[in-house]
Amino acid sequence: MKFVVAIDGTAASGKGTLGKKIAEHFDFHYLDTGILYRIVAYNLKYNSDFSKISKQKVQNSLKLLNNKNFNITNLRNEQITLRASEISKNKIVRDNLLLYQRNFALQNGGAVLDGRDIGTVVCPDADVKIFVDADVKIRAKRRYDQLVKNNKDLNLKKIIDDLSKRDNLDKNREFSPMVPAKDAFLLDTSNLTVEEALKKIIVIISKKFKK
Ligand code: C5P
Repeated sequence: MKFVVAIDGTAASGKGTLGKKIAEHFDFHYLDTGILYRIVAYNLKYNSDFSKISKQKVQNSLKLLNNKNFNITNLRNEQITLRASEISKNKIVRDNLLLYQRNFALQNGGAVLDGRDIGTVVCPDADVKIFVDADVKIRAKRRYDQLVKNNKDLNLKKIIDDLSKRDNLDKNREFSPMVPAKDAFLLDTSNLTVEEALKKIIVIISKKFKK
């Protein structure tokens, strides 16, 4: 059985949390495609010289993901986050991550992929497409509340600026810009709890997929 749910959206809009919960609910496979761009950024050792990016380097980066000793939380720091948005402009990077994502989507058992271009480029024939967004101040406050327990020096204004910067890079790049697919369901979570947003998505998917 093949069934693909594409979830795209702005940075920190909650698409990852929702994607995971949807996959659990329907017992589908789940892929956070942002992690692929992050691992390439990590493996390129912060090298922003795009001329040094090769197919081989992108493919070697993917191998790291399968290394059990590799700690994925390393990929969530501020530097890698911004670098990931920068290298994601690069066509060699995007083209060489495409097959991995498509193969994941088409495996048996159903799949949920979250990212920026899943409904438009990676899986244009996805069974369900959702585009998640929320006011940037609300997204930043949620992120702040998540991180505040571990980090005393957090600055809400800086989080707002960083999220806006990433969204602008993602929206305005030449290849696969972040844009809702024409047939995507637009979900604004500004005034919704995770549970409320999840319920809405489950209703949408259930119309197409009977468990
Ligand atoms: O989703 P996450 O914030 O982890 O993604 C990190 C970066 O990877 C994004 O800012 C975006 O530039 C890039 N990305 C992308 N296409 C995807 C997923 C992520 O360009 N499908």
